[in-house]
Amino acid sequence: MVPGRSCDGCVVCCVVPPVKSPEFSKTSGVACQHCDTAAGCAIYATRPNVCREFLCGWRSLPFLDDRWKPEACGLLVLPDKNDIPLDFERRVGLAIIAFRARGDLQHRFVVEMLAGLVAGKAPVFLSVPGPPGFDFAKTLLNPLLDQAVEARDGQRIEAVLTSTYDRLAGGSFRPLPA
Ligand code: SF4
Ligand code: SF4
Repeated sequence: MVPGRSCDGCVVCCVVPPVKSPEFSKTSGVACQHCDTAAGCAIYATRPNVCREFLCGWRSLPFLDDRWKPEACGLLVLPDKNDIPLDFERRVGLAIIAFRARGDLQHRFVVEMLAGLVAGKAPVFLSVPGPPGFDFAKTLLNPLLDQAVEARDGQRIEAVLTSTYDRLAGGSFRPLPA
């Protein structure tokens, strides 16, 4: 947990991802029944353990500055251990969930951060949510960005990010099990 950061004003993780746990489940893209989008969690003091134990990337990773608060930037960053190719030494990557709009990937601080992660051989995924009740579309960014990062070409990095967003958003999404 990064000291000084709080969820105040943000309910992104109570809406965007699906939650599946023995004590509480909800599907993707819909607010939890206890979520007041203006005031936060209506049962905060007694919220389920799955919620108590959860911290998004912005709350847990000091290198993501305040511009990365999900409600502000439209991007939810989560650790991701799945689908990492064997040639990566690092076995935990980051998923960048672009839950609002492709334009959220065009900010300079986003382009620079993703370029730095790719240059440092950290696995980075771009995820785009489907309609409510459907899974996210996801792809590994590293092979798509490697050349542009090596050339230090910010415009090309931005172009790859937005075209990848469009490809994912325009594809088919898998329905989540009820
Ligand atoms: S997405 Fe992060 S900052 Fe927003 S409510 Fe969830 S844990 Fe808090
Ligand atoms: S119980 Fe509270 S913290 Fe958990 S998802 Fe619902 S609104 Fe969010």
